[in-house]
Amino acid sequence: MNNPTDNAKLTPAMRQYQHFKGQYPEAILFFRMGDFYETFYEDAKICSQVLGIALTSRNKGENPIPLAGIPYHAIDGYLHKMIKAGYKVAICEQMEDASQAKGVVKRDVVRLVTPGTLTEDALLDENVGNYLAAFCFAGNCKASLGSSPGLRAGLAWVDLSTGQFFAQPMDGRHLLDELVRLTPAECIYNEDSLETNELFKKFISQLKEITATTLTPRPGWQFDPFQTNETVKKHFGTASLEGFGFEHADCCIAAAGAVLHYLNETQKTALTHINTLRKVSRERFLQIDKTTLRSLEIERTIRDGTPAGSLLHSIDKTQTAMGARKLRLWVCYPLNDMEHIQRRQDSIAELVQLDQIRDKLRKLLTNIADIERITTRISTARATPRDLLGLGHTLRQMPEIKILLNECSTEMPGQLAQQCDCLEQLADLIESAINPQAGLSYRDGNVIQTGFDEEVDRLRGICQDGQSWLAKYQKKLIEQTGLNSLKVGFNKVFGYYVEVSRVYKGQVPVDFVRKQTVKNAERYITDELKRYETEALNAQQRCRELEEKLFQDIRSRIAAQTPRLQQVADAVAKIDVLTSLAHIARHRNYCRPQMHLDPELEIIEGRHPVLDVTMAGSPEQFVPNDVTLGGRTGDIAIITGPNMSGKSTYIRQTALLVLMAQMGSYIPAQSASIGLVDRIFTRVGASDELTRGQSTFMVEMIETANILNNATSRSLVILDEIGRGTSTYDGLALAWAITEHIAAKIKCRTLFATHYHEITELADLLNNVKNLNVAVREWKDEVVFLHKIIEGRTDKSYGIHVARLAGIPKNVITRSNEILEELESSFSREAHTPQLGGRIEAKPSGEQFLFDILPPDPLLEKLKETDLNNLTPLQAINLLNEIKKELENR
Ligand code: ADP
Ligand code: MG
Repeated sequence: MNNPTDNAKLTPAMRQYQHFKGQYPEAILFFRMGDFYETFYEDAKICSQVLGIALTSRNKGENPIPLAGIPYHAIDGYLHKMIKAGYKVAICEQMEDASQAKGVVKRDVVRLVTPGTLTEDALLDENVGNYLAAFCFAGNCKASLGSSPGLRAGLAWVDLSTGQFFAQPMDGRHLLDELVRLTPAECIYNEDSLETNELFKKFISQLKEITATTLTPRPGWQFDPFQTNETVKKHFGTASLEGFGFEHADCCIAAAGAVLHYLNETQKTALTHINTLRKVSRERFLQIDKTTLRSLEIERTIRDGTPAGSLLHSIDKTQTAMGARKLRLWVCYPLNDMEHIQRRQDSIAELVQLDQIRDKLRKLLTNIADIERITTRISTARATPRDLLGLGHTLRQMPEIKILLNECSTEMPGQLAQQCDCLEQLADLIESAINPQAGLSYRDGNVIQTGFDEEVDRLRGICQDGQSWLAKYQKKLIEQTGLNSLKVGFNKVFGYYVEVSRVYKGQVPVDFVRKQTVKNAERYITDELKRYETEALNAQQRCRELEEKLFQDIRSRIAAQTPRLQQVADAVAKIDVLTSLAHIARHRNYCRPQMHLDPELEIIEGRHPVLDVTMAGSPEQFVPNDVTLGGRTGDIAIITGPNMSGKSTYIRQTALLVLMAQMGSYIPAQSASIGLVDRIFTRVGASDELTRGQSTFMVEMIETANILNNATSRSLVILDEIGRGTSTYDGLALAWAITEHIAAKIKCRTLFATHYHEITELADLLNNVKNLNVAVREWKDEVVFLHKIIEGRTDKSYGIHVARLAGIPKNVITRSNEILEELESSFSREAHTPQLGGRIEAKPSGEQFLFDILPPDPLLEKLKETDLNNLTPLQAINLLNEIKKELENR
């Protein structure tokens, strides 16, 4: 509880505190008192813990109030920590100068800082957008969520730091995927739905589990269709939303309205930089669901969740934060329309050729500030002098960038050149007005450049002349009094003084007024010095106030140009992404993929975009591979081969290359011809996955069901080791039936890596299925994985070879080989003899069927199910012991 004391007993300031705390019960209240932001009660305890600051108390006597304070100038760092720790912070400022206040100082909450509403660089990651999202379902989401295809959902999101605002109507089933792809910092939702709808509750808990977003419940009326429609119209000052491409009852408008409500409530500043609402439609983009995003390691790796090792990290050679953020969007939202892809490709092709122009552009970009976020801070009146300087400097680069772009002949550079507004007058204004040495805060003074404003110069003159005036005055006094050791000085507490050694105490003139006694000396004040003091201090104060006013004035003049500045920022971001992609294409020897609309795919000598870079320079070179899928070459490729031979790498690489191609980028291959893909689906083996409460097998089946239910003939499906999470025969049966279903019903381009060699028999039964395997060279008793994908099937798993590589002791390996030989001979597994196919007729319908085969040998079963990769040496020995014992007992 935050209010343990009787209100009447509190001081006026504390009563004021209670008043504001009551308005923001869910936030930590930073209460400005002089040079500190103080926190009290529970808040103080939390802050002291989270921020590692001292917990003290106010009213040391009877009713001590826990207190923890932070110095006002260090607020950014502390805010960052609080937000990171998942708290919201309400900032309560003093609204008047404490010295002028009658009674208690006027205060007000000026802002509620939440994870989704940050604008300061110190609080943000510069390379990722910071989104606040709102979502809702049509018709109060009474129908079943997650399964019913008809249920509409609305999603809206804003990046307050850049002013970009989007809304997307969609099928409710896609909402979770879209939220995962967006990774909003904060999500607001209708709290009434939570109370009334079980499925909504489940949705929220799923969202909590999968993402790290902060969830903020909001009252139901803020999602009301009528209210929100009005709110959005009012914000943009339009009579209807049709101009933005929305229909009247689009439920994403409810979400957009809720976003605006929330911003109005938390920000308390103008939101004019949010000047358009863009409609996003899923169809325009290549769809990547949450599983694919994760398993293709697009933004971060599965193993440790870091960006290093991800696709984005490996292709990001952008020079600006705006470019890095834009590239992330291009990677997470690849395109699904030929024209747009080709437009990007054309300009990259040109920039690949024009080495000089590209390099010059990239060099110029290194001098560019994050003007997208600066523009926002300018229009929300939070920009610092340094922000303005950064903007001015950036604008000065624009003419040269423009000239370089105009030397290109393709469409995009031309458009971008037009978008590069140089805003010369603004740049001039900033240059003439802002002192290049200005500090972080305009309150520190020295912000306005000399020569910009006469009055500022005059007042500064008075302050600066102080030194020479004092020296002159001292000289005059020495002459008057004949006291050579007399000094005129200044100290913070007593102000200006004349100091005379105690020895000459008796010789001072009568109009010297004694002020202070120090060791061996007396200090005095004179009328003249007093007058000077008043004027100097006043001048300083007046100068500071004037500078503040001028600064705010300049800031609002720049704010009036917000839309133009946003255009420039967008252009710079795109130039950065295009030149960065052209740069890697040129230096890493990428090719331009030919795009078309047939559901076919051919990549010659393709490389994995990440391994291609990380393995370069290592003795083991990355081995390029070809892919042909779709059309006459068959839709489905089944890839078999030993563990660690490169199956997973090959199939993921294919998906990544398609994704890059649809971004409009060049790709690491010798040549490629790629038919547009509408969705990439992936199902990655259980051993590569983390589990989330559900059994891995259940997860595996849910994801597979999703593929079978939603893939179209234009999709690309990547299956890695499905069926691994259950018993061998179950798994095999499922894998078989799933492949049949895709081959017969969906007929989409599919790559299926599996350790079930039996599945290779499907190629004999279905004409659109083919076999690939990974080449292995056996030499004496050495086995070498060549990582080369070749046509045909394989029958050996080389598990014991991998066990040896992993460091299983030699005697265990030798013994395993003996056992394996024995097992193989007793079951006479003949290579390349159809085993299942002989017994089962392939059912193109993919219906369930039962296996009609001999009961399996339990020993063989056990060995097959053992994942040698995950066995410790000790477990391996125990396993071998068990096998041996059982064999002996036969
Ligand atoms: P699998 O799925 O067959 O078990 P992976 O695809 O996981 O094998 O590959 C295992 C390792 O082999 C990779 O980590 C990589 O180091 C290496 N590798 C895979 N493909 C290639 C390749 N084309 N060229 C070089 N090394 C490769
Ligand atoms: Mg694998």
